[in-house]
Amino acid sequence: MLGKMMDKPLTISSLIAHAARYHGATEIVSVETGAPVSRTDWAGIEANARKLAAALSRLGIKQGDRCATIAWNNRRHLEIYFGIAGAGFVCHTINPRLFSEQLVYIINHAQDQALFLDATFLPVVAPLLGELETVKHVILMGPGDAAAEGMIPGLLFYDDLLAAESDDFRWPEIEENLPSSLCYTSGTTGHPKGVLYSHRSTVLHTLGANQPDGIALSAKDTVLAVVPMFHANAWGVPYVAAAVGAKFVLPGPHLDGESLVRLIDEERVTLAMGVPTIWMGLLEALENTGSRIDSLKRSIVGGSALPSSMIPAFRDRYGVELIHGWGMTETSPLGTMNQLLQKHAGLSDAQKAELRKGQGRPLYGVELRIVDDAGRVLPEDGKTQGDLQVRGYWVVDTYFRADSSATTGDGWFDTGDVATIDPDGYMIIRDRSKDIIKTGGEWISTVELEDIAIAQDGVANAAAIAARHRKWDERPVLIVVPQPGVRLSEQDILRGYDGKVARWQVPDKVIFVDALPIGGTGKVLKNKLREQFGDVLWDDKV
Ligand code: ADP
Repeated sequence: MLGKMMDKPLTISSLIAHAARYHGATEIVSVETGAPVSRTDWAGIEANARKLAAALSRLGIKQGDRCATIAWNNRRHLEIYFGIAGAGFVCHTINPRLFSEQLVYIINHAQDQALFLDATFLPVVAPLLGELETVKHVILMGPGDAAAEGMIPGLLFYDDLLAAESDDFRWPEIEENLPSSLCYTSGTTGHPKGVLYSHRSTVLHTLGANQPDGIALSAKDTVLAVVPMFHANAWGVPYVAAAVGAKFVLPGPHLDGESLVRLIDEERVTLAMGVPTIWMGLLEALENTGSRIDSLKRSIVGGSALPSSMIPAFRDRYGVELIHGWGMTETSPLGTMNQLLQKHAGLSDAQKAELRKGQGRPLYGVELRIVDDAGRVLPEDGKTQGDLQVRGYWVVDTYFRADSSATTGDGWFDTGDVATIDPDGYMIIRDRSKDIIKTGGEWISTVELEDIAIAQDGVANAAAIAARHRKWDERPVLIVVPQPGVRLSEQDILRGYDGKVARWQVPDKVIFVDALPIGGTGKVLKNKLREQFGDVLWDDKV
């Protein structure tokens, strides 16, 4: 016998239909490419999403077909998210900063039928079109534009497509396990791999990620998604914002600190989401502009380790609580969020700060474990390090078009991260296994070395890498970006490690640079740094 409740599929169209019906007049603010800020609302987004679904159906797009986007976070991109998935097609978001060969590989591997482009990316994509094997329609996200049409013959225009449609398209009933969106991991080694989300996994992630100890977004909030919509579905926030009917602010191409400060102030943003490098830029801009960003209460930070010195910097000076979360493309992406428990109420500020440094505890719907090289489960004592594995309702099983499952024999996904977990379930990412420094049989966490460096006065950013070493196999080298106008010496930096790590963990060398290489999702590209600086110790005497 089955339960006797309604069997309604969990679909993405249900999210946008809810937003339109119950929060229809709530504003969506979008910074447009090459144009001023535009304003619409959830009802407007849904109406356009339905028109887009109708237009794509007219162009011959069929259920399950992939339609790609190379675009900033803006209003049309939001309509595309819901229009494509709502109609039963698959929204494939692409990181525009990939190398040309990777773009071509991903589009061909995904067998994309249509390609939506922001004007910014026309010159990037136009020369590649001859290599794209499946794309039948290229659609510029804007009004008709003769110059653009000159670059790509047959180019379609988003606004024209929608203008030709009436309002009568209705969302189809879709089986909840059908695919809704597709995102490739950056593939720093080997080819990028596609994660094909389902309607069910996306809706469960929406509900699960928005628990009170998760994103905790409500209809009273104004949320700013700085995290790109091509970075693991902007951490799911477009779906969460629709589900709760929050005011939603999309920053378009302007992700520099000063533009973000202005947007936060003008739109009275209460919650912002983005990677640590974005908040580093924001801190600097705050100091320059004198803004107090007094509407902003919380910020969810993840994607790479949040330097612990940033937590008090935002809290004490601006009253903003930085909440550290962890996840990956393969986990939709939210896996953990760092919130305190009732029993921590009596702790000192310093003790609380210590707990808040890590990546936090699993949300309902996600389980974690750490294992050793042989796959044996390790104790969760806060000290033992192991390979982090995850399973849950919104975790990948098999990569797109792969022959076999990506999971271990017993149904867990290996994250490639090295972590500790304490008895309360607080997890700390010690490193990515490919970044960790293996020196004379011991490991050094680059995350820890960076955290100490970034906390020092005058340091704008820092990255630790493994450099090849004749005697120890690898030794740590620290690459430091000083704040503008500040002169730092190697000794200054190394003194900062006194008493904080064991002597053998202190970097062998400090190299000063003007900037670190940063990828499209705002993460430091350590493989690039290793290519550049990985041999700097090779000729040193041992
Ligand atoms: P990419 O491999 O392109 O960076 P993802 O965005 O899926 O793709 O990255 C997931 C990885 O990012 C995780 O496996 C982890 O190494 C890192 N990461 C994510 N959040 C955090 C965090 N809060 N602290 C440290 N590392 C993180």
